[in-house]
Amino acid sequence: MRQHERIEVRPRTPGRTRRRGTFLAGLAVASLLVSACAGGGATTAPAGSAAATPSGAASQPATGSYPNRTINFVVPFNAGGPTDTVTRLIAEPMGKTLGQQIVVQNVGGAGGTLGAGQVATAAKDGYTVLMHHIGMSTAPALYKDLPFKPLEDFRTIGLVTDVPMTIVGKKDLPPGDLKALIDYVKANKDTLTYAHAGPGAASHLCGLLFMQAVGVKVTEVPYTGTGPAMTDLVGGQVDFMCDQTTNTTGQIKDGAIKGYAVTTKERNAALPDLPTAAEGGLPNFEVTVWHGLYVPKDTPDEVVQKLNAALKAALKDQNVVTKFAELGTAPVPEDQVTPEAHTERLRSQLELWKPILEASGATAP
Ligand code: ASP
Repeated sequence: MRQHERIEVRPRTPGRTRRRGTFLAGLAVASLLVSACAGGGATTAPAGSAAATPSGAASQPATGSYPNRTINFVVPFNAGGPTDTVTRLIAEPMGKTLGQQIVVQNVGGAGGTLGAGQVATAAKDGYTVLMHHIGMSTAPALYKDLPFKPLEDFRTIGLVTDVPMTIVGKKDLPPGDLKALIDYVKANKDTLTYAHAGPGAASHLCGLLFMQAVGVKVTEVPYTGTGPAMTDLVGGQVDFMCDQTTNTTGQIKDGAIKGYAVTTKERNAALPDLPTAAEGGLPNFEVTVWHGLYVPKDTPDEVVQKLNAALKAALKDQNVVTKFAELGTAPVPEDQVTPEAHTERLRSQLELWKPILEASGATAP
């Protein structure tokens, strides 16, 4: 499977020959809460020790016996990335509560829209569940032929976690801090490469905001998830990116990559030495990434309620709370683990991103 996706990111300005960021004009950076979060082809792997089961297995109507077989959680990005990590952490206790195995299936590609599109048309029986992040609210403004409508084609289960992002670089990138990185990016804009997980992904949005703040564009390298993007950053094949603490904390601590800033108002307890973007010279640069679980529209209430109860229990699980904290995040407060709060977040984020992305000139195929 090709993990490095050559998505064409077309600039509106004619005549450019290199693949470049296409945003800039009019991206409002001030205090933007990128409440978000999360490969051509799919890989299936178990959460915990569960055995793989393909999605699309014979569906059956939900009854009082739901669930009575393996449940698939679709992650619309590659294995090993932040969305995958969060999903696997909650899938295990959710499976215990539901009394069934939960298998995590990675369907990366097109900034998360490939996997989301598959779930939109899956059987409405509760056996195919989508974990998605902010990409659900950015996709409609970027993709002309998006095969689903976020508010109409899914039922929401509940919000999961809000994850800070970090601006990171390959370990031998010369700048030693964020101020120096900004100068370096300005001075080397024609040669630097920025990795992200496809148009609309959190890493893409954070990059748009960063380039807007710095006032330049660099070459974008889209992947099918920031799992493989991180592999290339560690290997030095790309220069820098912006990714969630759930994917960067360990690598920064190990010295495998350079951490330049965390994108929240306060420093992060998991990375206490990492300055905030504001401390590093980017005032009001705030980005956090929300995640939520979805099922196809018309999935029965009973299924939604059972998944919601299992999600609530998982977010209180001590292992989940501890691991989330180690990765720089935390479960959302319990009153947000509801379909209503989730739908409201999705609706407000769709409204937030539409004008910003349209004004940016960013597009996706
Ligand atoms: N969450 C990542 C992003 O939006 C992608 C991933 O989970 O791999 O960039």
